[in-house]
Amino acid sequence: MPELPEVETVRRELEPLVVGETITRADVHWNRSCAGLNSDGLSAQLSGVRLRALHRRAKYLLFRGERAGLPQEFSVHLRMTGRLTVREAAAPYDPYLRVRLVFDSGLALHFDDVRKFGRLLVGTPAEVTLPALGPEPFDASWSGCVWRDRVRSRLRPIKALLLDQRLLAGVGNIYADEALFRAGLSPRRRGVDLTLRECEALVAAVREVLSAALAEDGASFDRFYRTPTGQPGRFQDHFQVYSRTGKPCYRCSTPIVRVLVAQRSTHYCPKCQRN
Ligand SMILES: [Zn+2]
Repeated sequence: MPELPEVETVRRELEPLVVGETITRADVHWNRSCAGLNSDGLSAQLSGVRLRALHRRAKYLLFRGERAGLPQEFSVHLRMTGRLTVREAAAPYDPYLRVRLVFDSGLALHFDDVRKFGRLLVGTPAEVTLPALGPEPFDASWSGCVWRDRVRSRLRPIKALLLDQRLLAGVGNIYADEALFRAGLSPRRRGVDLTLRECEALVAAVREVLSAALAEDGASFDRFYRTPTGQPGRFQDHFQVYSRTGKPCYRCSTPIVRVLVAQRSTHYCPKCQRN
């Protein structure tokens, strides 16, 4: 599933391609991808909208535009296998095309999604979803102190706390495992047991691994995630623990272990992450 580095890479590549475009119509091929709207329904909401900006919050892409001077927005959540590309409107469809927005320039934004869990929703998820999300990892307001305050009363393992989008936005299974390795923390440690120094190390590790992944356009360890220009990410070549079960730790040569923590597949080095 795309996490912060993948969604942010999509945003960065897509923004210059879509900002300034005006939507002329929507083609809906699978209406559950857009809250049951058919082509006419989605076209009524979005045709005539000129796109002005593309933002990201957590794993949501927020398209901001206006029509007749009034703001009109929509959001996309890629979930597991969603993919956004910009193509010539006359180009052939991908068999997994779910929704397409045609622009007046002759280009079109394609939302392909093999597993169909992704969503394109008119409006923002603001009213209910966005305010409940935790801080962005790169926000200056997020720190070791803040993180410790958030987790110090919690008995759940730190792996589960990192994945909880209400506590921290944008981190998923891959980057939680990679950050815990870099911080030298066992994924099973409980929030209540973490020291301030460990929280500071974890905050630094989360930022370090996300920055490194952004520099590589995210990770494509399966065939699904591609950037809007069709390129795979490259961070999978830099995984220290994720998907390396049984392979030697790059630091200490101990085989990497895969276990379930909070019902999530979790990879770690039992020696480097003993604490
Ligand atoms: Zn190790």
